[in-house]
Amino acid sequence: MFRYVILLTIAGIMGSIIAIRKGRSPIWWFILCALFPLLIIVIALLPPMVSKGYTKRCPYCAEIIKEDAIVCKHCGRELPIEMIKVNNKM
Ligand SMILES: [Zn+2]
Repeated sequence: MFRYVILLTIAGIMGSIIAIRKGRSPIWWFILCALFPLLIIVIALLPPMVSKGYTKRCPYCAEIIKEDAIVCKHCGRELPIEMIKVNNKM
């Protein structure tokens, strides 16, 4: 039983990592993949939110923007420097 829980947790972590790389919600995909490990295949096959490069969410308007963006294309606000650095490491 305990081993099964560990396996489901690993499945959830894998799903959330793939979700982050595709600009999708890591929390939702962690829960979904932990409950249904087969969904890892689904998230792996899903196209990213933006076709080129990885994405992040604008902290001001919550729109999906490109990871390397310094200014949000939706609301035009400049993003905090620490957010740009953190996102570039992933
Ligand atoms: Zn914005």
